[in-house]
Amino acid sequence: MHLHGTSAINNRGHLEIGGCDTTQLAADYGTPLYVFDEQLIRTRCREFRDAFLATGLQFQVAYASKAFCVKAMCRIVEEEGLSLDVVSDGELYTALQAGFPPQRIHFHGNNKTPQEIEMGLDANIGCFVVDNFMELHLLNELARERKMKASILLRITPGVEAHTHEFISTGQTDSKFGFDMENGSAFRAVQESLKLEQLRLLGVHSHIGSQIFEVDGFEIAADKVSRFAAQVRDELDYTFTVINLGGGFGIRYMEGDTPLPAARYIGAIADAVKNNFSARSYPLPEIWIEPGRSIVGEAGTTLYTVGSVKDIPGVRKYVAVDGGMTDNPRPALYGARYEAMLANRALDVEEEVVSIAGKCCESGDMLIWDLALPVVRTGDLLAVSSTGAYNYAMASHYNRIRKPAVIFVKDGAADVVVRRDTYEDVAGNDVIPERLRKQPEPIAKA
Ligand SMILES: *Cc1c(COP(=O)(O)O)cnc(C)c1O
Repeated sequence: MHLHGTSAINNRGHLEIGGCDTTQLAADYGTPLYVFDEQLIRTRCREFRDAFLATGLQFQVAYASKAFCVKAMCRIVEEEGLSLDVVSDGELYTALQAGFPPQRIHFHGNNKTPQEIEMGLDANIGCFVVDNFMELHLLNELARERKMKASILLRITPGVEAHTHEFISTGQTDSKFGFDMENGSAFRAVQESLKLEQLRLLGVHSHIGSQIFEVDGFEIAADKVSRFAAQVRDELDYTFTVINLGGGFGIRYMEGDTPLPAARYIGAIADAVKNNFSARSYPLPEIWIEPGRSIVGEAGTTLYTVGSVKDIPGVRKYVAVDGGMTDNPRPALYGARYEAMLANRALDVEEEVVSIAGKCCESGDMLIWDLALPVVRTGDLLAVSSTGAYNYAMASHYNRIRKPAVIFVKDGAADVVVRRDTYEDVAGNDVIPERLRKQPEPIAKA
């Protein structure tokens, strides 16, 4: 397993994160346990900011909070000077409760409800990323009721889809998100926005994919967006001040994943924007980006205790842990792959190949297939790396399993940022209607 950030093997042969021995963390907080390397989160935030500062462009780096949205994380994002993307009322609520400055919040989503839009307006958030014509009119109406002007970006689909090591120019885009550029709906959305009095159009937004390991997808998107901006200026006499190029910067899950440093992505984006916009004599817009996974993914490690071990000779050895698809649904959902190690015997040599099973009643609840480990014993502590993004965020109560605690570790200290669920968190919203209540036993007469 690759050791990210402050992760190291200490002289007792234990995995250590943020100066904390993981065997001690497991003893103190129980397992499964999500452990976040706070320093690494902060480092990633700074890398994006510093990279932009070096370009001389105006910018905003907005953390896509859907990757991992809890109040303590919002605090770190604010302290590091980033903005924040939310995609639901629940994420917005979390950010506001954490005291995140509303003006630095951007609201995404392809089906914002009237209540969500009202919540955003009432909080006076910085920007709505408008996805469709219905939302455009709804937002205008709700802003009018409040005598407000809402700043917006229009989400457009530029016909570029980045996939890990290649990009696909999709032509006609088949996507549930945004206004299509090629069929003219993006242009009509601009025309429409300029007519709506309660809206202030800042510019456009495009997001081309996730786990992107190359810069060319962003370069093509910058070219297409600048061409669109020039068309809008020439035909409608309107100049965009913001271009948002989305997120999707890759991280390392497995050996062979080769993310670029933030500075490489940002350098390429800045060059592409400068070249394309200058070539069209267009005033340089502010550049916004939205990293999610690349801010938190590698900072997260999940600790599990090994329980049952089932050896099917000549076939496979199943090693079951005390969590699974409830705390990390990604392998079951889309075949995501992870690395892991024995955190309590980190120096032992690998001697066997096993498969890590979760504890849910689903054959598909497998965390890792074919992992080389020392001979595993019940009670060992398994650490799975790069679980910071889309793990806690996607956790469920399937099988009524309680969600694990989340802790931040830094400089030898650990802090709980989400408490482990109680049974009440699992069953507390249940209601037994009167007619189903258990009747008291009739009292036997003496
Ligand atoms: C999911 C998403 C992101 C973040 O993607 P990552 O792969 O986590 O960086 C950014 N912007 C939009 C619009 C998204 O939907």
